[in-house]
Amino acid sequence: MIAFQGVSVVYPNGVTALRDLDLKIEKGDFLFLVGPTGSGKSTILKLIYREEVCTSGRIIVAGKEITGISRRQIPYLRRGIGVVFQDFKLLPRRTAWDNVAFALHVIGVGRTEVKRQAAKALDSVGLLHKADALPTELSAGEQQRVCIARAIVNNPVILVADEPTGNLDPDTSWDIVQLLSRINVKGTTVIMATHDRSIVDRMRKRVIALQNGRLVRDEDKGAYIGEL
Ligand code: ADP
Repeated sequence: MIAFQGVSVVYPNGVTALRDLDLKIEKGDFLFLVGPTGSGKSTILKLIYREEVCTSGRIIVAGKEITGISRRQIPYLRRGIGVVFQDFKLLPRRTAWDNVAFALHVIGVGRTEVKRQAAKALDSVGLLHKADALPTELSAGEQQRVCIARAIVNNPVILVADEPTGNLDPDTSWDIVQLLSRINVKGTTVIMATHDRSIVDRMRKRVIALQNGRLVRDEDKGAYIGEL
């Protein structure tokens, strides 16, 4: 589903964020990216949805080499990828429903289909009854659920989550990860960057550890290990 081959990223300020990274993620994987702040986790996620480009190497996403794709092709790539952020990034003056439906409007989905898919996505995160609430009227956990609904509304093959539980208490964090796990069981490949040791240790999924832009561990059914 995703392959990185000899990928390096040097940002314009001279910082090397990734060094010669090789990585293979199969369809249907659930994978944790762990490592200290600044080790390159977000950079990997941004490369997958083409927010950043690599300086050298090759990246294949959903069977397609994305290293050299044109600007015009980026929206098509992103239609197959849902993204969830630590700080939610919801439209503040729009309801939960609008936040989810908007993701479909912008790609030209018709009204009837928008209604059907938005209802299904909100229902799958258990928030259909709060469809008319504004983000400020929702708890942090509920806001993250809306973000997940927005990310999956278009049935993506890949879901990328950058510290999705970073602003949540432990119980809510666990609920959110269980939700991501249910989405994964239905076939979506999930990649989650996290600092949350207890979640990683409880889930026993594949763990990729980074340090200083290098892959230092790749383990099936792994644990967090190491510094935060
Ligand atoms: P993590 O997600 O593990 O905290 P990042 O991928 O965000 O790590 O960052 C890796 C390194 O790249 C860090 O040293 C960070 O400061 C640097 N970095 C990240 N984004 C940028 C950017 N846009 N410009 C310059 N340096 C960046």
